[in-house]
Amino acid sequence: MEVGAGKQEMLQKKSAVLVDGVILNGPIMDSKAGEKFVEEACKIIMEEIVQKADDVTEKVCEWQAPEKLKQILDLEMRDTGECHQKILQLCRDVIKYSVKTNHPRFFNQLYAGMDYYSLVARFITEALNPSVYTYEVSPVFLLVEEAVIKKMIEFIGWEEGDGIFNPGGSVSNMYAMNLARYKFCPEIKEKGLSGLPRLVLFASEECHYSMKKAASFLGIGTENVYFIKTDERGKMIPEELEKQVQRARKEGSAPFLVCATAGTTVLGAFDPLDKIADICENHGLWLHVDASWGGSALISRKHRRLLHGIHRADSVAWNPHKMLLAGIQCCALLVKDNSGLLKKCYSAEAAYLFQQDKFYDVSYDTGDKSIQCSRRPDAFKFWLMWKALGTTGLEERVNRALALARYLVEEIKKREGFQLLLEPEYANVCFWYIPPSLRKMEDGPEFWEKLHQVAPIIKERMMKKGSMMLGYQPHWGKVNFFRQVVISPQVSREDMDFLLDEIELLAKDL
Ligand SMILES: *Cc1c(COP(=O)(O)O)cnc(C)c1O
Repeated sequence: MEVGAGKQEMLQKKSAVLVDGVILNGPIMDSKAGEKFVEEACKIIMEEIVQKADDVTEKVCEWQAPEKLKQILDLEMRDTGECHQKILQLCRDVIKYSVKTNHPRFFNQLYAGMDYYSLVARFITEALNPSVYTYEVSPVFLLVEEAVIKKMIEFIGWEEGDGIFNPGGSVSNMYAMNLARYKFCPEIKEKGLSGLPRLVLFASEECHYSMKKAASFLGIGTENVYFIKTDERGKMIPEELEKQVQRARKEGSAPFLVCATAGTTVLGAFDPLDKIADICENHGLWLHVDASWGGSALISRKHRRLLHGIHRADSVAWNPHKMLLAGIQCCALLVKDNSGLLKKCYSAEAAYLFQQDKFYDVSYDTGDKSIQCSRRPDAFKFWLMWKALGTTGLEERVNRALALARYLVEEIKKREGFQLLLEPEYANVCFWYIPPSLRKMEDGPEFWEKLHQVAPIIKERMMKKGSMMLGYQPHWGKVNFFRQVVISPQVSREDMDFLLDEIELLAKDL
């Protein structure tokens, strides 16, 4: 902020108070200039991001190699600040060289698209800058979080429960793992790991990598995650789970948790929750369902059967920032227990923040359920969006994503060179593209070796052109395939056609 002139003026005033050579009168910043800057920056955000979000003639990304991008951006921070015009230009550059994840042809991740309400909710919270630990600091956002958690619990099918919003599904999974362990041996909170038997948990081979990370972070150890075989569709095989639980028991270790996945990250597979819940019940194991990706199907009357049996889970991770477009990050861990287990497990009762003699109902100071101190009001963007669209609007998003995936599958079947990996259950459409030169080749190691190289080449070309972004994945014998995920409400049938046309075009010479 430019304050030089103001300072001079202030010094001339008799009332100027100097301490250690610092003038203390008036504000440090020139608020008029600051307001003008915010206004102009907002205009840039409107013109360069919001208004272009559904424009397919815009590039998805303006790709540059890291060294080149470093030069373009002028990243060096100097002793003297720069003028507003320069800073606004920097803002424009940042936008220009960033990936437009809200572009209808950004198919790279499990999220995309722009939800206008959650965007405004983010503007509001960025401006208010609250921290969701106590009712006194975040009265509205705490009540909003409570309301959203209550509603999500309803959709899971529990009569009551508890929950907390976390920075990411990975963190929710870690919370669940720690909570299950606390339930299994509450002494751990005070005594630590030293007195414990070897704890073992189970997750499918197709589970999210955060399970491994959580096991390592929590001191359980990655070797004590027993990966359960999946069937040809990527679903956990319950009989294999039963076998592994028995094996763990025979080894003298202590099984405590099963992590099922509802909507695996790559194939979009749903583990058979009912059968897994039976096994958990028999063996007294905590059942956590990682529904980070698939949880949104609960909103759809048509598709919620994919998660049949989820009401039997002890905890559920669900990311509204994926298919429902609530904006990163928006992730809840929901817990069936309503006896305060979450708080007992995580609380540290900091006396400076969570005083028990406050003048209001301190049960609203929910921050002690979290391992965080400062926490963002992530539930708010989901709430504002839900208010604006209603449950039927959210349901429409899920139904549309799955219908678009069906459409893409049918188109893939019609086109030469495209080969579906498997019939999708969800919005993950996985396929190979076999370029013209490989179509006559015999099936064998050489064919697969060559095919393996195709997806990365196409990917490079699409990124350099900026026409779309699509993820690929090595899998099953390290052969790359494309994994298409349809979630953006801006995505239309035309974008699905474009996806396939563009692959054909980019791979014409391969
Ligand atoms: C995306 C995903 C996660 C991780 O969620 P983040 O919010 O990215 O941490 C966990 N599990 C599954 C199944 C996912 O698809």
